[in-house]
Amino acid sequence: MHDKPRKSKELLVLQSLHPRMNLSLEEKQHLENLEKGYHGEIAFYHQLKEYPLKHQLTLYDLLLISNKTEFQLDSLLIRKNKIYLLEIKNFEGDFYIQQDKWYAASTGKEIRNPLLQLTRSEFLLRHLLQQWGYNFSIEPYIIFINPEFTLYQAPLHQPFIFRSQLNRFLKKLQASDIATTKKEKALTQKLVSHHREHSSNERLPQYEYEQLEKGMVCSCCQNFLTAITFHTLFCKNCHREINAETAVIENIAEFHLLFPERKITTKAIYEWCGRILPKKTIRRILAKNLTFVDRGGFSYYLLKN
Ligand SMILES: [Zn+2]
Repeated sequence: MHDKPRKSKELLVLQSLHPRMNLSLEEKQHLENLEKGYHGEIAFYHQLKEYPLKHQLTLYDLLLISNKTEFQLDSLLIRKNKIYLLEIKNFEGDFYIQQDKWYAASTGKEIRNPLLQLTRSEFLLRHLLQQWGYNFSIEPYIIFINPEFTLYQAPLHQPFIFRSQLNRFLKKLQASDIATTKKEKALTQKLVSHHREHSSNERLPQYEYEQLEKGMVCSCCQNFLTAITFHTLFCKNCHREINAETAVIENIAEFHLLFPERKITTKAIYEWCGRILPKKTIRRILAKNLTFVDRGGFSYYLLKN
């Protein structure tokens, strides 16, 4: 479950809401930042796959509590007696550092110093490991994954890995790949078992069912789909045909994410999907893919895990 980067709940909700309501400028910006961060993690994930490491345990997107403080870890490489704590940053463009402060060169605007976040994560992770009785050394790095990123006045001997250095870094890891023991596997499991699904820092917009635009949304570009037949939908933006069943299932997942308290019924999904497919088709898809809970006139469906 943590073996590859995952979209946070915040990102999923904002992506679902975006085509269906007017987000504020700030919310749109936040969505863009989250998407960018996610794409950065995916880019790192693929790069790491180019240098397969047999013995290493890799974890992505953990949300943990240590010292009564919540913290999020992009990526951990767990090796024999050692953890690489890797923060992935997908910054793009020119930046500079001045007296420990970070600025975007194009605007002169100060950005949050990513080193502070790294130091904090390292501290909290170390605290947690000590509490659990593990004695691992931690090596923290910030990986600037975007090839279009430049950092001026970056001091030497900082825990930075720029895109131009990433392959060398991964090659070095590959050369020092030693077998892990039970201890590393146990720690990996322990970290996963302490992962929290919900962050207390989630910033979600207020939304109501009635206010949202209904219809079926393309999973690639979040544009509304049009029905060509009962079995096929079309995305004008991606120029691709999409199987109606696949699209309905994706849109049920969205419905459930946004309104977990609402029952999944034929009528509800028919409406949520913008009435572009017949009720009969919706019922067939629900019956085939979800679990039917028979309550007479109040019957509904449950998602299968
Ligand atoms: Zn599309």
